[in-house]
Amino acid sequence: MLARMINIKNQGLGEKYLGAPIIFLRSKTQTHLSLLKSIDNRINSWSNRFLSQAGRTSLVKAIDQAIPLYQMAAFLIPKNLCRKIDSHLCKYWWGESLDPNDKKIHLLAWDNICKPVSEGGLGIRKSEINNIAMLARNAWRLLENPESLWGKTLKAKYFKNSDFLHANCPNSASWAWKCLHFVKEKIKPFISWIVGDGKFIDPWCDRWIPDCNNEHPQPQTPHDTNIKVADFIDQTSRSWDRGNLQIHFDQSSIEKIVRIPLSSVSSSDRRAWDLTRDGRFISKSIYLTLRGVGNNQEDKLWKGIWKSKMPHRVQLFTWKCAKNALPVRDLLSQRININTNLCPRCQAEPKTITHALLTCTQIATLWSNSRMHCCTDPFVDKPISDWLRSWLAVDPYRSNVDKIEHFPLVASLMWSIWMSRNILVFNNKIETDIAIQNRAHRMLPKPKFQKQGNNTTSQSQLTNHARLPPPAGWVKVNCDGAWDPVTKCGG
Ligand SMILES: [Zn+2]
Repeated sequence: MLARMINIKNQGLGEKYLGAPIIFLRSKTQTHLSLLKSIDNRINSWSNRFLSQAGRTSLVKAIDQAIPLYQMAAFLIPKNLCRKIDSHLCKYWWGESLDPNDKKIHLLAWDNICKPVSEGGLGIRKSEINNIAMLARNAWRLLENPESLWGKTLKAKYFKNSDFLHANCPNSASWAWKCLHFVKEKIKPFISWIVGDGKFIDPWCDRWIPDCNNEHPQPQTPHDTNIKVADFIDQTSRSWDRGNLQIHFDQSSIEKIVRIPLSSVSSSDRRAWDLTRDGRFISKSIYLTLRGVGNNQEDKLWKGIWKSKMPHRVQLFTWKCAKNALPVRDLLSQRININTNLCPRCQAEPKTITHALLTCTQIATLWSNSRMHCCTDPFVDKPISDWLRSWLAVDPYRSNVDKIEHFPLVASLMWSIWMSRNILVFNNKIETDIAIQNRAHRMLPKPKFQKQGNNTTSQSQLTNHARLPPPAGWVKVNCDGAWDPVTKCGG
C-alpha cells in the first residue's frame, strides 16, 4: 500500500548481484534455489549430457569450483540444498538424467568418489564442506585486511571495541554476518599470531606460543587484561625479557616462548594460518581438515595411476578397476538378478574383474604374447589392485621397480580388453588379439622426436633447416619419412 501511495513500482524478488541474491525470502532454500537450477542447467545441456565419464568428472569438478562461487562464498547454503546439489552431481557422474525414474547401479558411494585423490577418490568437493571452505576464505580476508572498506563497515556495526575474531553475533545481526560469524568460530582453532611488536596479542587468551596445541598458558599472577605480549619483549634489544616472563609464566611455557624468533626490526603482529607451512590461507587446507582425512596414509597406488602418461579415460578406467567398480557379472549379480554370473568369453568361470581382464583363457594368452610376455596365473585369486601394484612397484611389490615403465601399456591393454568385452557382449563380435593390442598401443602417447647423440634438435628446427636454400652449385631434395617404434611400421 505504501509503495502504491508513493508511486513506487513493485520490484522483482529475483534480483542478484554477482550471482548472489540481494533480497532474501523467508525460506533460505527458496532463496538459494537458483544455485541448484544453474547446476542442473549446466549438466542438462545438450553438449554435456553426452560426455564420457572422464569428461563428466572434469565438468563436475569445474561446476564445484565455479558455479556456486559467489553464493557459497557469501552465505551458508541450507544443508538440504547442499545434499540435493551433491545428489544431482552424483547422478550426472554415473550417467543418469535427473529424471527420478532413471536409475543406474552406483558401484561406488559418492562419499568414496569425493575422497581426496591421495586417498583413492577423485578429489570432488562435497557441497556442504566446500561452502564452509569458501566462506572461510572471506573470513580470513577480513582478518588480514581489517582496514578494507567492508572491514571498517563491519567493525563499526559488530565489533567496535574488539576485533573480528572476538566479535559476537547478536540476534538482530544480518544473515551475512551470522554466516561469517559461524565460519569464524569454525576456523578459530586454526588461527594463531606471529609475534611482531606484541602490542595486539593477549598472552593468555590468544594463540601465539607454538607447540602449545590449543592450550593457553596459565598466569602465575592474577590475570591482568592490560598486559600484552609486548610487555615481555625488550624493545631496545628485541629479545625476550626473561625476568618479566618468570613473574607471569611457568617454566615450561617460558622455554617455549623464548624459542619464538623476534625480528630485529619491530613490525606489527600478524595472523598465521596453522594449516599451511607458510601460514598463508588456502581453502583446500580447511576443506580437508573439516572433511576429516581418512586413514592419513597416502596410498602410492593412486598417485601411480594418475601420474602415468596415458589418456584421462584410461586413467579413470584403471582407477575404477582398482576401486572394484567395473560392472562385471560377478559384482552385478550381488546387486540385481541376472541370469548368470559366468564369463561371456569362456562360459566357465564367474566373471570377476581379475578374470575378465587377466585370467580368462584367451586373455591370459594375450598377456603372454604381449610385449611384456607376462604370466597372469599368480593373480588368479587376487584383487586386480594387486596386479596394478605389482606393475607400479608399490607395496607389497616394491622389488618390481623395473616394471614401472610398462605401466601405461599394461593399463591401456586392460582398457582395450574391456572395450573388446563390450563389443562381444553388446555387438556379439569377437575381436582378434592383434586388434586388441593395436587399440591399446594407440592410447599411448607418441614418443617425442629425438636426435641421436648429444644434440637434441626439435622438429621445428629441422623443418626450418629443410627450408633453407642449398649452397650455390648444389641441388637439394627434401623428403620425409616416419617410423612408429610401437607398431614397427614406417612410411
Ligand atoms: Zn572367461
